[in-house]
Amino acid sequence: MDCIFCKIVEGTIPSKKVFENEYVVAFHDIQPAAPVHILIIPKKHIPTMNDVSDEDAAVIAEIFKAARTIAKEQGIAENGYRLINNCNADGGQVVYHLHIHLLGGEKLGPLLSK
Ligand code: AMP
Ligand code: ZN
Repeated sequence: MDCIFCKIVEGTIPSKKVFENEYVVAFHDIQPAAPVHILIIPKKHIPTMNDVSDEDAAVIAEIFKAARTIAKEQGIAENGYRLINNCNADGGQVVYHLHIHLLGGEKLGPLLSK
């Protein structure tokens, strides 16, 4: 499958990984929009939020658990951060492998500015 994030999961495309477990991988966004900009993705190829099924409940929980852990590790938990999922064209999704943006490290602008 020609999916850039699946290739990051497999390790055939390099990334600056900050977290990995059985379910998820997290790595620095290649074009950071904030001092901390990390993408958290399921290892399973799920194209968009619309494709999440009831069987994916554990994976989704792992994404949010990873976000909490990474925010703490990055030293931004107390000051705060933002989690974003872009879904399909109107949401601005570019890579069609589910991912959550973890943004922080500064006071972010109004909601949804990037
Ligand atoms: P989205 O618009 O939500 O689909 O965001 C996709 C994000 O993936 C963008 O912020 C890109 O900068 C990021 N991105 C694309 N390719 C890579 C890559 N090879 N490594 C890290 N981040 C990437
Ligand atoms: Zn994929």
